[in-house]
Amino acid sequence: MKPLFVLPALLCSLALFDLSANAALSEKSFGKTPQGKKVTLYTLSNANGMSVGIMNYGATVVNLIVPDRSGKLGDVALGFDRVTPYFTQTAYLGATAGRYANRIANGQFHLDGKAYQLPKNNAPNTLHGGFLGFDKQMWTAKTAGAEANEITFSRVSPDGEEGYPGKLDASVTFTLTKKNELQISYLATTDKPTIINLTNHTYFNLAGAGNGSILEHLLTLKADAFTPVNATLIPTGEIKDVAGTAWDFRSATPIGLHLKEAGGKPIGFDHNYVLNKGLFSDRSLAAIVEEPKSGRVMKVYTDQPGIQFYSGNFLDGTLTGKGGKVYHQYDGFCLETQHYPDSPNEKAFPSTVLLPGQTYQTTTTYAFSVK
Ligand code: BGC
Repeated sequence: MKPLFVLPALLCSLALFDLSANAALSEKSFGKTPQGKKVTLYTLSNANGMSVGIMNYGATVVNLIVPDRSGKLGDVALGFDRVTPYFTQTAYLGATAGRYANRIANGQFHLDGKAYQLPKNNAPNTLHGGFLGFDKQMWTAKTAGAEANEITFSRVSPDGEEGYPGKLDASVTFTLTKKNELQISYLATTDKPTIINLTNHTYFNLAGAGNGSILEHLLTLKADAFTPVNATLIPTGEIKDVAGTAWDFRSATPIGLHLKEAGGKPIGFDHNYVLNKGLFSDRSLAAIVEEPKSGRVMKVYTDQPGIQFYSGNFLDGTLTGKGGKVYHQYDGFCLETQHYPDSPNEKAFPSTVLLPGQTYQTTTTYAFSVK
C-alpha cells in the first residue's frame, strides 16, 4: 500500500475499533416461565466497566453495575438471581410498567363516552397495568449483534388486555452509552383510542443493592410542586407547592430527613412530582441523587411531565434478592418518569390518551458519574 493511503486506512480501522471496543452485548439463560418459555438475560456493557442486565420477561432491568469514586464496580439495582421470583413479586423490581404505570382510581375511566373497568390488583385501584401488566409478559428481543450498545424489546398487547382498549404495539429500547448513561426509550401505537403511561420501575441503591437503606442518599428534584394523594394513593387533583413541606427536594436533601413528616401508610414518599419544565419540552434534568460514601451520582433526564418518587415503603423484608440479600423497607428508591397517576380521571392533568395514527414516544436517561 502506498504511504498516501495508509493514514486514511489506519484512521478508518481505528474508528471501527473504537466503536466495537466500547460496547458489547452478551446473553445467557435466566430460566423458564411456567409456560415453558425460555427467559434470557441480555447484558450491555461499555469500556468503563459499566453494564446493565435486562431480561425479556417484563423487559426488566435485573442488574446495573456502576463504578464508585475509586472505580470499584457495584450493582445499584435491586433484583433477583433468577427469573422465578419475578413471577410472584408485586414490588415491580426493575420492570417495565404498563399499560398505565401507577394508579387508576377504582380501575375505572371513560374514553369517548364509554366506561372501562380494569382489574383492581391494588384494591380498590388498578396499579401498573393490572394483574398481568407489562411486567408479567414476555417481550421479543431484537439485538444488533455482539458489539451493539442497545437492545429493543417489543410486544403486541391485544385489544382488551387487562381491560384496556385497542391493540397496542409497544417497544422499549435500552441503550448504554460510552458516557455511563442508561437511556430508555418507549414507542407505542394503537388501533383504537386508548390510554398509555409507560415507565421503568428500577429500585436504586447507589451504595449497592442490599447494602442498607437509601435514607442518607441526597436527592434533588426539579419540581416546585407535587400531587398530594388520598389514603389509597390516588391524587386528590390538587397541585401543591412543595415550599415548607416534607416534599421539598428543590435542593439536595437526605431522603430520610423529613420522611416521617411525609406520613402515609406505610410511612414514606410515594408521590408524583410535577416537573418544572414545560410539559412537552425536550428531555431535561428532573432529578439528581448522590450517595456520599461511594460517591456515586445519578442524574435523571426526561421528557415526561412527572416523576414518581417512591422511597421503597412497601419493601418489608419478604423479598430475598441477588446474593441472598434481603430487601427491607427503604432499601431502594424509584424515580419513575411518567404522566401523573390517575390522569384519565383528572381533566386538569396532561392527557394520556393515545389515538390511532399517533405515536407515543418518550425517553428517559439515567446518567451515572461520581463526586
Ligand atoms: C407505587 C407504589 C407501589 C410500588 C410498587 C410505585 O410506583 O407508587 O405505591 O407500592 O410502585 O408496586
